Amino acid sequence: MNLDTVALVNHFEFIGARHSELVHHGECCQLARRWLVDMHRSLSFNRSEEHRLHAPTWLRQRFKWGPVQWPLSWCETVRKSQIDCGVFAALSREIFAQQGVDVYPAQVILNQPKTYVQHWNLKWANIFQTIPWIGQEYVYHEVCAVAEAGDSRIRIYDPTESVWLDSEFSRGINGVVGLNVNSPVPLNWGTLTVGQGKWALI
Ligand SMILES: [Zn+2]
Repeated sequence: MNLDTVALVNHFEFIGARHSELVHHGECCQLARRWLVDMHRSLSFNRSEEHRLHAPTWLRQRFKWGPVQWPLSWCETVRKSQIDCGVFAALSREIFAQQGVDVYPAQVILNQPKTYVQHWNLKWANIFQTIPWIGQEYVYHEVCAVAEAGDSRIRIYDPTESVWLDSEFSRGINGVVGLNVNSPVPLNWGTLTVGQGKWALI
């Protein structure tokens, strides 16, 4: 961890102090949430492992990844063709919560190849004047922390990429440099203690 990264984390701490939440209007948004959970049930139905936790991998087939204008509501979201990582994470939290596990909003700072970062800058610049989540070689990203009910050991799911991030193999390019989990209690991701809305550096 060099000094630049520490400075960067302070910057992200500011912009990423709060994870993205969808607006809930009322009945229209309740219907949208029910649609989401029903879609997940129907798409997970044929899997053989009946009692296993099913990650919402289908979200990435249904929605493209791209910029959205915030604030955004549940009923607007389900009609979108593209959503950002904050929306992917919000939808996934709803789906995980319905499966009876503990799920918390989580944010990571990822080490990314410079070419990707340049590409994202161009893509987002068409929509926004400033792009606060993209650094020189690090990016801010929203994910989900998932644990069996009452267990302090979490797993991190990245719904934008449809992958579980491994605490032991998250180094180097695409590696996790920082993790913030918005949980009321301390939690463990591998050997790292996280939670309570405090950034942990790796
Ligand atoms: Zn609504």
